[in-house]
Amino acid sequence: MNYFAGIDVGSTAIKVALVDEQGTLAGVHVTASGSLFHKNSTEALNTLLAKLGLQRDDVRYLIATGYGRKLFKEADDSISEITANAAGAFETGKAYGGVRTIINIGGQDSKAIRIDPTGNVENFAMNDKCAAGTGRFLDVAARNLELDLEELGDYHFQGDKAPLNINSTCTVFAESEIIGLLANGHGKSEIIAGIHYSIASRTVRLAKRVGVEDRVYFDGGPALNKGLVAAIQDELGRELLVPEYPQTTTAFGAAILARNDWQEENAG
Ligand code: ADP
Repeated sequence: MNYFAGIDVGSTAIKVALVDEQGTLAGVHVTASGSLFHKNSTEALNTLLAKLGLQRDDVRYLIATGYGRKLFKEADDSISEITANAAGAFETGKAYGGVRTIINIGGQDSKAIRIDPTGNVENFAMNDKCAAGTGRFLDVAARNLELDLEELGDYHFQGDKAPLNINSTCTVFAESEIIGLLANGHGKSEIIAGIHYSIASRTVRLAKRVGVEDRVYFDGGPALNKGLVAAIQDELGRELLVPEYPQTTTAFGAAILARNDWQEENAG
C-alpha cells in the first residue's frame, strides 16, 4: 500500500498527517516545535509511521508546509500554508456540504481564506504582525491565570458575569492588563471570556476582509478551545464548522496534495 504525507512545521507545533491512495486519513501526530525544527519534524514523522506499523519507504511522496517548511529538506516539495490549509479544509468540508470561508488561528498568526466551489483560493488575509489575535495570546493568558491551556474553554462558560473588555492591542500589554484585572478582584471566567471575545473580534474583522461566504470552517490549534469557538460564532453571527482534528487540517491538506501530485506523475 502506498501512503502520502503532509508535514506542517508550525511556529508552535509540528503536525504530521498520512493518507492512503484513496486520500483517506490513516493517522495524525502532533508534537511541540521546540527549537530544533528539523530534528523534531523527523521524529514526529517516525513516531506516526511507528504508530501505524509503516516504514519510511511506504511514503511515496511527502509535502512540507508551515512556517519552518524549508528546514525539512528531505520533503519532495514544499508549499504555502494557505494552499495546504485550503486543500485540507476543502476536502474535510465535503462531508459537511462544502465550505467557502476558512479561518485559521495558529500559534503566531491568523488567516482567513476564501475558496471557490472547486477549492481554489480566491482571496486571503493574514495577520502575522500582532500576537494578540493568535494562540500565543491564549498561551500567555493561561500562564498568567495559572491554568492549563485545555482549561480555558470550560472557564469561558462558568462565570455569571459578563465578559470583561480586554483593551490592549498587544500581547505584552494584555499580559499586564490581565494581571491588573486579577489584582482588582475580577474572576478568571470573566477575564477568559473577555480574552476570547477580544481574539474573536479581531478574527471576524480578518474574515470580513476576504468576504464571508457559506459555511465557515475554523481550524488551527485554538479551534480546540470551545469557549473561543463560541465567542467567534457570537461575533460572526454564524455557526462555525470545527472538524474533528482542527489542528491537523493543514498537514492533511499537504498530504492530499502529495497524493494528487504522485498520482498525476504516475498515471497510466
Ligand atoms: P502553528 O501551526 O502556528 O504551530 P497551531 O495551529 O499548531 O499553530 O496552534 C498552536 C496553538 O494552539 C497554541 O499556541 C495553543 O494556543 C493552541 N492549542 C493547542 N492545543 C490546544 C488545546 N488542547 N486546547 C486549546 N488550545 C490549544
